[in-house]
Amino acid sequence: MSRVAVVTGGTRGIGEEICVELKEAGYKPAAVYAGNDSAARDFTARTGVPAFKFDVSDFDACQKGVAEIQKELGPVEVLVNNAGITRDGTMHKMTFEQWDAVIQTNLASCFNMCKAVIEGMREREFGRIVNIGSVNGRAGQYGQVNYAAAKSGIHGFTKALALEGAGKGITVNAIAPGYVLTDMVRAVPERVLEKIVATIPVGRLGDPKDIARAVTFLVADDAGFVTGSTLDINGGQHMY
Ligand code: NAP
Repeated sequence: MSRVAVVTGGTRGIGEEICVELKEAGYKPAAVYAGNDSAARDFTARTGVPAFKFDVSDFDACQKGVAEIQKELGPVEVLVNNAGITRDGTMHKMTFEQWDAVIQTNLASCFNMCKAVIEGMREREFGRIVNIGSVNGRAGQYGQVNYAAAKSGIHGFTKALALEGAGKGITVNAIAPGYVLTDMVRAVPERVLEKIVATIPVGRLGDPKDIARAVTFLVADDAGFVTGSTLDINGGQHMY
């Protein structure tokens, strides 16, 4: 049986690789994206994975969007909350809009998407949810009070929902990636990036595959004993 796996932010970067790996592992992935239609078209042409456009920061859009996915593909049994944005700035310069956009897109989206699938997972007594956090939610980062707060919130959200899902066959885990080479990181100035790489013990940026492999492990049917955990995948940059 092919389980339907929704991956938010699935058309680019880490999300694309998660879709590819899940498809190879026998899942039926569906990618959600915000507005970059040409990237989404290219993604679907490359991978054969359907893309659905809606804003994960909008509660009603998520309920409608997930209903559409379920109508086309079947019940959602795997959810990967991966969509995320950065709007950096130090606290004294950060606007409310920068704060709010990051909290809504990175954190409120987890609530919005989980609400859309949780009843079905409880009824079927099976579900796999993976939330993508960040090393910067674990360690903090200069110029990112919004992003660090949202990502740190994801780690608490994960543990609370894991407790609620445990008796119903639903696992909820998080991954905290370090710096992974995607558009998000390509936007970082070269000289800053060089300094960052110098702090990574394995001496390189992460590859989206480094994260996608872990997602495939966490969503497997036989990973039912792994729940409420946060997996740090950061090349040794930050250890606990
Ligand atoms: P990315 O390359 O910038 O891709 C972002 C994806 O999210 C795109 O598909 C984008 O859609 C989608 N998206 C953004 N806002 C959305 C919204 N409101 N509604 C629906 N979809 C939305 O990002 P990435 O680097 O792969 O990052 C993926 C996740 O990993 C994020 O949560 C990020 O915070 C986290 N992370 C990344 C790194 C890293 O180094 N890259 C490190 C730690 C954590 P469009 O194409 O339509 O814009």
